[in-house]
Amino acid sequence: MTAKIGLEIHQRLDTRKLHCHCYANPSEDKADFKPDLVLRRRLKAVGGELGEVDAAAAYEAAKKRVFEYQVDPRFSCLVESDETPPEELNGEALQAVLGIAKALNARVVDEAHVMRKMITDGSAVSGFQRTTLIATGGFIETQKGKVGIQSIALEEESAGIVEKGHGKFIFRLDRLGIPLVEIATAPDVKDGEHAKETAEILGRVLRESGLVQRGLGSIRQDLNISIDGGERVELKGVQDLRLLPKIIGIEIERQKKDGVRKGGETRRIIGEQSEFMRPLPGAARIYPETDIPHVRITRELLEKAVVGEKSADKVTRLEKLGLGEQMAERLAFSKELPLFERIYAKTSAEPTVIASALLESLTSLRREGIATEKISEQQLSGLFSFFAEGKIAKAAVAEILRELPSGKGAGEIAKEKDLLKFSSRELDALVASGKGFGEIMREYRLRVDAQELQKKFKP
Ligand SMILES: [Zn+2]
Repeated sequence: MTAKIGLEIHQRLDTRKLHCHCYANPSEDKADFKPDLVLRRRLKAVGGELGEVDAAAAYEAAKKRVFEYQVDPRFSCLVESDETPPEELNGEALQAVLGIAKALNARVVDEAHVMRKMITDGSAVSGFQRTTLIATGGFIETQKGKVGIQSIALEEESAGIVEKGHGKFIFRLDRLGIPLVEIATAPDVKDGEHAKETAEILGRVLRESGLVQRGLGSIRQDLNISIDGGERVELKGVQDLRLLPKIIGIEIERQKKDGVRKGGETRRIIGEQSEFMRPLPGAARIYPETDIPHVRITRELLEKAVVGEKSADKVTRLEKLGLGEQMAERLAFSKELPLFERIYAKTSAEPTVIASALLESLTSLRREGIATEKISEQQLSGLFSFFAEGKIAKAAVAEILRELPSGKGAGEIAKEKDLLKFSSRELDALVASGKGFGEIMREYRLRVDAQELQKKFKP
């Protein structure tokens, strides 16, 4: 028996959406989504480029379902609702995927053509998903030899399903249109353990691009398996890479016992088992997107795309700046890293203070419901310059962050809120007044640096 195994990885990019200006990160904003509006649609299968209705599309359409879409206008616009034509390919997402293609040794296409892939399960309002081939013919090195990379594409993420049952399907539009990098390997994967290693390597390359979303659902693995030259089965939705060896073993046994229906099958993974979803989609469902111009991938564009710095190198570099191991690791994989680097280069403020403000303070303020997205990079740089000049204490940084959404500068806020740091002379006066260290810290925590004050108490 010979088994052919290939992997397909889908990773969300943390940029604005692929064909409009909306931004959403459903793994983070989940609790925040408010369905202000509901659209109701019924889809029907239409002929693809070849004029025939694809088997998969026909299968889904035959079910005559009604689809509902929840809309929160903060996370989607008329593009996702299919009320207005899409915008051209998002340059930032393109740049990221070009870097990934380089890291995977793939050949980038001269011209990127946006295509429509028919999809009638309701997960796109328009009835199709846009997909753009970016590169082919790459490879990665693994312990069991090279694994070929057949294709790297940029796709639109589908709408997330909220509820289904009784012929009604309810989706959310925030997820729809987020850029997805789709990487398909050649059927070079030898066995289950090898599939796990391959998926881990690809996951690392994606994270090292520095532009990927993290958290539940932001990366998904599918499997392609066929045995003895038979029909192919696509297994969708591996949740845990550690289960790959088991899932593959079970699927090979299942194919030996039950066979595979003609034309192939798409199956959904549930735990380690799988269940039939629909026939494998054919080529008929892909046709050109005429609303979007082709993008020439010039030499300059390719040169500008950087292959991600190895994560281990990033962590070392950040540790050298004085960040602790844990903080360095978090920052190395965070989308805030470029912002951190720009602010540090501009202000020379203490790196741990910048990092903890970006990674911790801003996150907790956002959870409190403070509109941190209104804070500009200029305001942040202003704040850290002010801190680097010794005008405010470390403890005051978070307090000023809280007020920045008002649009005011750090200096103005510090004066208004009485957060300016005590000068050395003012500290002397406080100490001379007879107050103890603890008392001063309790009373003026936000205006005193503990280390500076400690020196005043040394004999
Ligand atoms: Zn939009």
